[in-house]
Amino acid sequence: MPEGDTIHKLANFLEPRLVGQTIIDAGPANAAVARRCVGRRVQQVFARGKHLFIGFDNNIAIRSHLGMHGSWHRYPPGDAWQRPRSQLSVALTTSDWEYVCFNAKAVEIVRTPSVRERIVHGRLGPDLIADNIEPADLVRRAREILEDDALLVDALLDQRVASGIGNVYKSEVLFIERYSPLIPLPNIDDRSLGRCFATAADLLRRNLGGGRRITRCERDGAGVLWVYGRTDLPCLHCDTPIVSQRLGYHHRGTYWCPTCQSDRESAN
Ligand SMILES: [Zn+2]
Repeated sequence: MPEGDTIHKLANFLEPRLVGQTIIDAGPANAAVARRCVGRRVQQVFARGKHLFIGFDNNIAIRSHLGMHGSWHRYPPGDAWQRPRSQLSVALTTSDWEYVCFNAKAVEIVRTPSVRERIVHGRLGPDLIADNIEPADLVRRAREILEDDALLVDALLDQRVASGIGNVYKSEVLFIERYSPLIPLPNIDDRSLGRCFATAADLLRRNLGGGRRITRCERDGAGVLWVYGRTDLPCLHCDTPIVSQRLGYHHRGTYWCPTCQSDRESAN
């Protein structure tokens, strides 16, 4: 499942390969993309949270959001794709490679000045990997943006607050910080919420190097994640079976240890 670290790794891979290249063919899934990119030179490739932007020399960019199931592939021209054409979101061809995106949640053309606007006006929060931001600022954003009925999990996943945390890191951060995902946002104090964001940023940065996503470094063969995907398996800290439930505004699968992660609430 793509999260902020995945998209940064993808941007790091694509940038040196695509910048300076001219798109000689594009499409066919999205005609608007094809029409506006063909013949244009790639000027920049960058990640912002879970969004990948490929910017061209005519002040437009392709924004792709991979959602739960999207991916970018690279093929020599003429090679068979690993996924059927029906799953194609967009394909960009340069003189020597085809860059193909499948199953994206969103692919659209945006004007590059409006990308900056979007960031400036807060529709996309600070990037936890790229931006050096104080946890206190993230806490303030969370308090301003979210309603009083939000849960802690909603604050972590809301890309307007901070971009980069996905569903895996959400559960892992809460385990590491020992907070129950059932805690309402108003019931957690600023310092604790700030620690959750700081831990998330740390995990995202530590996972930029490639390979599997790792939040647990013990070399005991018991796994590289603490709770995510471990329903009914014993907690790796206390042996209590891990529970899972769909929680928050978006009903996303959430995993936690009911013993290690108490419902303790902390007031400001
Ligand atoms: Zn436990």
